Amino acid sequence: MKVEKCSVCGKGEAKESIGCRKVVVEGKTWRLHKDRFMYCSHCRTRYYTGEQARESSRHLKELRAE
Ligand SMILES: [Zn+2]
Repeated sequence: MKVEKCSVCGKGEAKESIGCRKVVVEGKTWRLHKDRFMYCSHCRTRYYTGEQARESSRHLKELRAE
């Protein structure tokens, strides 16, 4: 798991975490399990790095294709 300086507050350390995310697309709710994101315990913000965002949208595409 990677740790980086929080790109939101610039003070805390953001740790890569895995959680569940709900996404609503065209009125339908999809649940992404094992969604990876950065979480900063200093400002309590979740954000995605470019790579994580790509992975997340690929995951969503796979779910929608089923
Ligand atoms: Zn922060």
